[in-house]
Amino acid sequence: MVIVMGPEATRADVESIVAVVQAAGVEAFVSRGVQRTIVGLVGDVTQLDAAGLRAMGGVREVMRVSTPYKLVSRENHPQRSTVHVGGVPIGPDTVTLIAGPCAVETPQQTLDAALMARAAGATLLRGGAYKPRTSPYAFQGLGEKGLRILAEVREETGLPVVTEVVDAHDVALVASYADMLQVGTRNAQNFALLQAVGAAGRPVMLKRGMNATIEEWLMAAEYIAQRGNLDIVLCERGIRTFETATRNTLDVSAVPVAQRLSHLPVIVDPSHSGGRRDLVLPLTRAAIGVGADGVIIDVHPQPEQALCDGPQALVDGDLEELARVMRDFPPLLGKTAAAALPAA
Ligand code: PEP
Ligand code: MN
Repeated sequence: MVIVMGPEATRADVESIVAVVQAAGVEAFVSRGVQRTIVGLVGDVTQLDAAGLRAMGGVREVMRVSTPYKLVSRENHPQRSTVHVGGVPIGPDTVTLIAGPCAVETPQQTLDAALMARAAGATLLRGGAYKPRTSPYAFQGLGEKGLRILAEVREETGLPVVTEVVDAHDVALVASYADMLQVGTRNAQNFALLQAVGAAGRPVMLKRGMNATIEEWLMAAEYIAQRGNLDIVLCERGIRTFETATRNTLDVSAVPVAQRLSHLPVIVDPSHSGGRRDLVLPLTRAAIGVGADGVIIDVHPQPEQALCDGPQALVDGDLEELARVMRDFPPLLGKTAAAALPAA
């Protein structure tokens, strides 16, 4: 059982709940988040009076759960959720395009990529300032300087920023610049990082671990939710299989499966899954076709000079077709492109 407290709940409200629960011999774990406080109950809850708990001060919801993940489960939350990032919706009614460079390299490169992204219909800008690279010799990102560039480009283009955080110690700094925090596939089960982003007061995009089952992915999301943050977007980005023709194998069935199990929005990264420019548009069509709530795509003004993932970046010549797909495909699924920019 999980008790979700509203933002108005006082410390005394939470203490009263804990006292009632403990009196019934059940353990209570309190997670205080920026947006809400959550009390998770462990033990035999059959003696607890859910209606009585629901009537107590500060209580928003009392949920009985049978899946191992509770807060992100659709069981007690049948309506699919919409997450807003700087005013831009990601959810069941829309297909949101997030685009930009894999890595922030220079102010000009980032601005050029952002303008490419916007021209294709993107309403959110992606770009990594902290890069989780397989090789310690590869470009690791510009760090805070990259975050400053992203903030400048947001000013110039109006596009809210999605950027990755790789270390729990950097979460507050990245959150001070970013509109959405990204947790990458290599950190998808870094539980300390998940808890830190859960407490950061920003929406989070959680990529699926390349070796993670869907249940493990949802359990990872639960770590974020447990800290009081339910503004989570799941991102399928390909998994490890025996196939070597593509960098990873896009698990298209993960999209409807995750949407059935969880109320969280699910988007797809066709760039990092295939790892090849020629696959990005076909996989984007597949993602929208299977019901994804958005796509996140690498674009670069000069991919041959990119410091990271140039071979998968879309170029100018691809933008017209990307824009067409973003315009024409979502209506086939009863969705609209999350087109209009929020008022500046
Ligand atoms: C990225 O989006 O920049 C990235 C590193 O993706 P992934 O974690 O999916 O490899
Ligand atoms: Mn990349």
